[in-house]
Amino acid sequence: MFHGGGKNELKSLSVVIVVAVIGLIFLAGGVGATLNRTMTTAACEACGMEVEKTDVSSLLVVSSDGGEHWACCPICADVIGLYYVDAEIQGQCFACGQDIDIHLEDSQLSYVEFSGNKEFIKVLLGGMCMKNKLVCSGACAQSVHQSYEWAADIPEKTLQEALMIGNTKLETMTVGYRPISIPALSYVVMGTGVALLAAAPVAWKLMNKGQKTQAAN
Ligand SMILES: [Zn+2]
Ligand SMILES: [Zn+2]
Repeated sequence: MFHGGGKNELKSLSVVIVVAVIGLIFLAGGVGATLNRTMTTAACEACGMEVEKTDVSSLLVVSSDGGEHWACCPICADVIGLYYVDAEIQGQCFACGQDIDIHLEDSQLSYVEFSGNKEFIKVLLGGMCMKNKLVCSGACAQSVHQSYEWAADIPEKTLQEALMIGNTKLETMTVGYRPISIPALSYVVMGTGVALLAAAPVAWKLMNKGQKTQAAN
């Protein structure tokens, strides 16, 4: 193979390898970013808003079949929980981060798992997803009222009251899995990778052809 113009062949081979490696790096980068986003981000199954799974405001609703459904706020979580009839809503206090697990059975509030006094768990009702927050105590509710201008005088609802609001909303909302949006840039990066990978063997053929023609002349 490396007779005569061996040096040139080596040169073109290294160009092809570099192109292919760059293609692989692009492809891996795009795939990695997409996978990472899929693992860390989810869309609320009630309203569609995208949330970070680790965000203290995000709630995970586990239906009785073990299915995992993400919610952006406690009201959406109630809507989703009611949709699945039997569900465990895993939330956290917006102020202190303590775990609050709300169990629904037959579309009713069954029991709450919480390390402190459950009576003071409230939903601060800001009237929109971004402003509906779960809090575990009077002190935590107070700290949210004082820390955020938008929360200064929003009403506090009991879990039962919040569930009733969720029940009303369920009638107008469509609950179900929604894919998260993948940024166009990820597709561009992956597409570039695939194009470079595909170009590498073509470039190899073209360069060899060129050399053979050169040799023939
Ligand atoms: Zn939502
Ligand atoms: Zn708290």
